[in-house]
Amino acid sequence: MTRADDLGTPDPSGPLDGVGESGQLGRDVASGDGGNGDGGGDVSGDVDAVGDVDVDGGARTRRRLLRGGLAFGAAVAVGLTAELTSSTGRASTGAVDHPSAVWTPATSHNYTASRRTSSYPIDLVVIHVTQASFTNAIGIFQSPSHAVSAHYVVRSGDGEIAQCVREHDIAWHAGNWGYNTRSIGIEHEGWVGQPAYFTSAMYSASAALTAAICDRYGIPKDRDHIIGHYQVPGTDHTDPGANWDWPRYLALVNAA
Ligand SMILES: [Zn+2]
Repeated sequence: MTRADDLGTPDPSGPLDGVGESGQLGRDVASGDGGNGDGGGDVSGDVDAVGDVDVDGGARTRRRLLRGGLAFGAAVAVGLTAELTSSTGRASTGAVDHPSAVWTPATSHNYTASRRTSSYPIDLVVIHVTQASFTNAIGIFQSPSHAVSAHYVVRSGDGEIAQCVREHDIAWHAGNWGYNTRSIGIEHEGWVGQPAYFTSAMYSASAALTAAICDRYGIPKDRDHIIGHYQVPGTDHTDPGANWDWPRYLALVNAA
């Protein structure tokens, strides 16, 4: 996700990182530049946080993560409480593919409009961890300078689901154009190294979402089709990380 260009252009051959990250929050942050990232201004404050975002890899990113993680630590402790207690229950207003999701659109600069499944089949669900707060992740998706997005973001505290990109469109989350075209990307609020973010509410809500997606497109509910970002070819991202309970998640998806 280093190059903004990759993002913008659905270049199938682009380096995964480039693309993938593009799709990801981290990338911007991590690379700081991106299309503009640096100056960005608005997001720059989040950058560290974002940078962590799973999005990109690279030593530079990792360094940022460490840095951002530490810096974020304190903020997170405080922010998390606010996040968890923030209001919920907003009504969906239409344009969502998942009935209980809240339509929180990403800027159209951060995804590729498409007509799936006429344009591309959908046979994968990619699981991510934001490495940023729910609010910051959505803010990044809404910022034209970041070139990253995901179809959904699930909030840690209560499992609220924000839909940011329609499923027929191609979100930039996998850092790999080919994988982006065939998948639905779900971001989970939290950090790979902080298992406390992976709450029962989040697992349940996300599993119900993934189950519905699988039913919608005839995707097998198994680990060959519900994958972690770390499994995308060419990525150096590790999310959702070792603290993500795959057996539990798959059991919930299959029971939903
Ligand atoms: Zn990811």
